[in-house]
Amino acid sequence: MDDCDTLDQATRSLAKRFGNRPAFQLDDQVVDFEQIDRASDQVAEGLRAEGLSPGDRIAIVAKDCIAGYEILLGCAKAGCVLVPLNWKLSGEELKNILHDSRAKLVFADDTGSTKLAGFEIHPRPLSGYPAWRDSQPQIRASFQANAETPIVQIYTSGTTGIPKGVVLAHRTFFDLRRGMRQMGDDWMGLTAKDRLLLSLPQFHIGGLWWAVQGYLVGAMGVLMESFVGWKALELIEKSQVTQVPMVPAMIQFCLAEPSFDSTDLSSVRGFLYGGSPISSELLRTVQHKFLNAEFFQIYGLTETGNMAVCLRPADHGNDRLAHAAGRPLPGVDCKIVGVNGNELPANQTGEICLRTPSLMLEYWNRPDETNATSIDGWLKTGDAGYVNEEGYLFVSDRIKDMIIYAGENLFPTEIESALLRHEAIRDAAVIGVPDPKWGESPKAFVVLNETVEKPRIRDLMKFAKSQLAEFKVPKSFEFVTDLPRNPSGKILKSEIRRPYWQNQNRKVN
Ligand code: ATP
Repeated sequence: MDDCDTLDQATRSLAKRFGNRPAFQLDDQVVDFEQIDRASDQVAEGLRAEGLSPGDRIAIVAKDCIAGYEILLGCAKAGCVLVPLNWKLSGEELKNILHDSRAKLVFADDTGSTKLAGFEIHPRPLSGYPAWRDSQPQIRASFQANAETPIVQIYTSGTTGIPKGVVLAHRTFFDLRRGMRQMGDDWMGLTAKDRLLLSLPQFHIGGLWWAVQGYLVGAMGVLMESFVGWKALELIEKSQVTQVPMVPAMIQFCLAEPSFDSTDLSSVRGFLYGGSPISSELLRTVQHKFLNAEFFQIYGLTETGNMAVCLRPADHGNDRLAHAAGRPLPGVDCKIVGVNGNELPANQTGEICLRTPSLMLEYWNRPDETNATSIDGWLKTGDAGYVNEEGYLFVSDRIKDMIIYAGENLFPTEIESALLRHEAIRDAAVIGVPDPKWGESPKAFVVLNETVEKPRIRDLMKFAKSQLAEFKVPKSFEFVTDLPRNPSGKILKSEIRRPYWQNQNRKVN
């Protein structure tokens, strides 16, 4: 779709080009490219008939569904902005986000409707959506978007504060890939023959961006209502999926499935992972299983419209790059900035800043936060990291998660990776807790592997000392049964920190 700039144009030209080839499949429901074009015209007409205007927000609170894509493309044709929300949030959280978004129309499935009951929001039940859509005439909408027109507003999951609405323009779905192709870089080489597993949720930029990339090349998206390990494995085998994206937590869920070893995963030729740090052990295990797949790590944020940096297949065997996130994609610039705002030389750790053609337009209704985060086209990511002499980016951690202990900066991710090498540790989170002498000190929360004998804390400390410099070794350990994670698998450090810092007025978020 190199001739298109916007999703409304693309939907029309894809229908002409791919006609009745399947675009999306969810269980036994399949829609083709022509049907999607027709449905999105009807959605656009329905929105117009109900008095919605370009720029209005339309929210959806639902498990992943084909209707979500029809409504997205309908919004594109009507000039509206889709706000896809995480159906796993509580009613109160959803109410607050809906209020912030000023959505004029809310679609919700049964789960969403139940959560919103009692909040005076009155969502439109998604079960009535097909009848509503089909009652609209199929009229070609007169609205024409351009590359800068807003199309989606994605709420960050709030791992580092209250969720903010990240407003993304049509160009987020086009410019980076087009620029790369113009430079002769075909990235994952997606083609119309591919079948993409849509395992990342629709309400997350990773899920939406990935689904749209497949759609734009005429590939088929294989949906999951919500991620479950065994279901993902079953779909890969049954639907002969060729491209799989997963965050590390999803990989863990798949590995824990009894069916993992017996599933035929040979159809997969591309495996995309990222979104949070991955341990070398986990990566190695999954590489051994997806034998025909090339591996791509991506690093990016909602604010960068998904991926900005990529570790390519050829870099995966290289030990020096075992902890690298990759190199900026063509068209993306990356620099590391020190506390005074000065650009740092190679190998020095500071804040990662990115400049990308798919950068957000703004944080919705938060001009001060937009101006503080996005400066002259550069996004301050809030992540600490460094770039080596060859231009590879290494992500150390969230700056907010960094622990300053005895004058040293500790990055919890590094400590967690070391702990995960212990056979008895299945999951680990390290936070800074108040320390009367040093201000704060590292504390580890570990989830044990039930199949292995329970270790003594003394042994874990000894193990940590064998892996890490002395000052990085956690000063205390706590066994827990689970760690709080957001839907994209990131550990909610703020939740773990809260009980320790709530009276200290700092470090909670
Ligand atoms: P919030 O911004 O509210 O905390 P969030 O964490 O869900 O929510 P996202 O935009 O989804 O926000 O996540 C972006 C963050 O994910 C990055 O800033 C970085 O910390 C982390 N991340 C993304 N890719 C990688 C990667 N390959 N390796 C390590 N961390 C990654």
